[in-house]
Amino acid sequence: MKLLFEISKDGHGCDLLPALDVPEVVLPAKDRRTLPLPLPQLSEIELSRHYTCLMKRTFGVNSGFYPLGSCTMKYNPRINEDMASLPGFREIHPLQPEHTVQGCMEVFSETEKALCEITGMDAVTFQPAAGAHGEFVGVLMIKDYHESRGDTKRTKIIIPDAAHGTNPASATMAGFTVVNLPSDAEGCVDVEKLREFAGDDTAGLMLTNPNTLGLFDKNILEITKIIHDAGGVNYYDGANLNAVMGIVRPGDMGFDVVHLNIHKTFSTPHGGGGPGSGPVGCKAFLCDFLPVYQVVEREGGYGFSSPAKTIGSVKAFYGHFLVVVKALTYIKTLGAEGIRNAAVHAVLNANYMQKKLSEYYDPACEGLCMHEFVLTLRRLREKTGVSALDVAKALLDDGVHPPTMYFPLIVQEALMVEPTETETKETIDEAVEIFKNIYEMIQANPQQLHEMPLTTPIRRPDEVAAARNPRLKFTES
Ligand SMILES: *Cc1c(COP(=O)(O)O)cnc(C)c1O
Repeated sequence: MKLLFEISKDGHGCDLLPALDVPEVVLPAKDRRTLPLPLPQLSEIELSRHYTCLMKRTFGVNSGFYPLGSCTMKYNPRINEDMASLPGFREIHPLQPEHTVQGCMEVFSETEKALCEITGMDAVTFQPAAGAHGEFVGVLMIKDYHESRGDTKRTKIIIPDAAHGTNPASATMAGFTVVNLPSDAEGCVDVEKLREFAGDDTAGLMLTNPNTLGLFDKNILEITKIIHDAGGVNYYDGANLNAVMGIVRPGDMGFDVVHLNIHKTFSTPHGGGGPGSGPVGCKAFLCDFLPVYQVVEREGGYGFSSPAKTIGSVKAFYGHFLVVVKALTYIKTLGAEGIRNAAVHAVLNANYMQKKLSEYYDPACEGLCMHEFVLTLRRLREKTGVSALDVAKALLDDGVHPPTMYFPLIVQEALMVEPTETETKETIDEAVEIFKNIYEMIQANPQQLHEMPLTTPIRRPDEVAAARNPRLKFTES
């Protein structure tokens, strides 16, 4: 496929700029370009075809089943986009006077109230741009909290070995030492080990529950109490709240700081379709440390205030406002009952699919799962030489996006599957049939699996080379 610059031909382009409606300003010569801007020249239909072609060569949640574990690739209702396109939301400027954007501030305030209710927190910031950014903010708040009390020996954050990779990364970036907490035989927190590790150098614990194995840790109250008793703060990675929203609240589990991934749980575009939003909620004793720009209700309307001991600004202005509009639309559309129902169906769909697939592939854990489950293809690989990667690649030929591969790290040959609540039973049955056919192909002729996919534009890219030597700049070939 050719790039826009390669299709470009002088004279094909056109520019239809609206008439100038502000006074013209002529820039000083030193600020002016000396060469014309080398923009590609294309007609509208050439441009349109280019993007349609690109669209067909990629895979999104609107193309087919997308069970990418830990990513919650649910369908994003179109009404969210309609609301975010309203001129009153879309055509504002961040430096506009507060009295002209009261409605937008109400959106922040309403969404904050809803997320406080869902998480059991007392306040929420919308500045962080994504989940990992939210973690970084939450961990900085924990750091400043301890320092503000003169408690400077707390240099360690305890993180289970099943955690999402962003957790240790965020804690390390904030200057903490990460203590790696092993999981027990069932895949949950080893409580005795935690008791051993927790002490007066513990700044806090970072935990996701249900964890990345899709298991809800039944000892959660004991776990958070151990950290509190040691003087630490409990951080909840709520990137995937899909299994528990409307059912249990991190605040009631003993957590003090939470981030949510609006672009997962609250149905806004994700990955290449971003931008995302990773709001952080906290209990009252941490509110003073929140980033700048908290929306507060004042007499006659809303205003922005900066918390007393704020960690500062972590993003330009107020975060990704239109993403918040979409999340509020989703929350209001579903209502309390619908939010709870979404969680119930996410868990039902995952258990249904796990049960069906376990006829062919080994689940990593026994028993019921939450919103996602992990398969281990270790035995299959030993017997047939076919790896989790091979199976993932084979799915592509059947129009299914592969599950997450080789994560969590504690499971060998892992495939992590999250169907989400927006898929029908029929779609899940079809996907199970595809997994089953692949299993039968492996039994008949395992060699052919190493050749797949056969139908995609690119078959097996060299992922290491792509990551280490990316070609980011267009060069005329
Ligand atoms: C997705 C995810 C994150 C990171 O979120 P980003 O928005 O990708 O930065 C963190 N923790 C868990 C459990 C996740 O699934």
